[in-house]
Amino acid sequence: MSIAVKELHKRFGNFTALDNVSLDFPNGELTALLGPSGCGKTTLLRIIAGLEYADRGQVLLDGQDASQQHVRERQVGFVFQHYALFKHMTIFENIAFGLRVKPRAVRPSESEIREKVTRLLELVQLDWLADRYPPQLSGGQRQRIALARALAVEPRVLLLDEPFGALDAKVRKELRRWLRRLHDELHVTSIFVTHDQEEALEVADQIVLMNHGVVEQVGAPAEVYQHPATPFVYGFLGNVNLFHGRVHEGILDAGGVQFSAPGHADTKDAVGTGYVRPHEFDIDRYSPGAEGLVVQLRRVHSIGPLAQLELERDDNGDLVEAMISSERYQSLNLKVGEALVLRPRRLHVFVNQQ
Ligand code: ATP
Repeated sequence: MSIAVKELHKRFGNFTALDNVSLDFPNGELTALLGPSGCGKTTLLRIIAGLEYADRGQVLLDGQDASQQHVRERQVGFVFQHYALFKHMTIFENIAFGLRVKPRAVRPSESEIREKVTRLLELVQLDWLADRYPPQLSGGQRQRIALARALAVEPRVLLLDEPFGALDAKVRKELRRWLRRLHDELHVTSIFVTHDQEEALEVADQIVLMNHGVVEQVGAPAEVYQHPATPFVYGFLGNVNLFHGRVHEGILDAGGVQFSAPGHADTKDAVGTGYVRPHEFDIDRYSPGAEGLVVQLRRVHSIGPLAQLELERDDNGDLVEAMISSERYQSLNLKVGEALVLRPRRLHVFVNQQ
């Protein structure tokens, strides 16, 4: 089922939680709602579910206006960060619950319920846990059961609110890959709330980046990562170095150094900032006359295959973070305090609005 929201507004007292939000969630795709805490992700998810109502605007399910529909009519499945499975019921009964409470006329028979729950347990690869109780499961297993329970009633849409937020980093990583594979099998239109950019970039077909109740950018993960529409998106999707200066006819003059500013050939005498991610620098030992930004090595954090370098600009003392492969780092044979030259391989310049 496709989902769309049109011109949604939501206020809590004087606080605007959603400000004119319009979005399309294509049929069968997994969309990540990404943004910092308090930006309105959960509010948007709850309005789509029918757990909350917008002050203005529409929710369309398969093109039909569902804004006034009750949560039950919308046929959505939920998984929350702390999904309370029933502690006194076995895992099997937890998954069967939604089927057992269906009105008599549409309730499946006992053998159909058994067959379906068994299939779902196999789908989430936990059939061996059917007779256990929730407290006997790990956090990651519980969330997989929560997902099986949400899927039991064959929802037309699956809404996941930070489903792996309470789990440790390793389990989280495993589960997000597992969720992606599951989604590839089922193709249920799904919306996944997260504030973790890595999770969104890895899992989603489409990312919606929100900030202060406003949509900053919508696109495929590679699109938003490679072509961030705003400085906020650039900063939110990973570490970044900023070079403030003046932009004039394709050149960013950032104090001690000039960088070419792609896409700004016609910009004249503007104030702007260059954005460079730590892994987007070429680095060499300093030699007199070498072109680029002169820096000194302050510290090295070795993190496995990559070396993370903390550098200090010679001209103004600002810090710069750079990442190079450990092999390259070793071949440069650097010592703390030595001078280096940096050249951005990729630089994105945003010009300030006048
Ligand atoms: P988080 O990642 O922390 O869950 P979020 O992006 O999901 O954040 P929301 O839960 O949608 O953010 O909340 C958006 C804003 O609206 C927050 O500032 C929150 O305090 C406020 N808010 C949400 N629900 C209510 C409510 N029922 N009453 C008053 N304010 C609310």
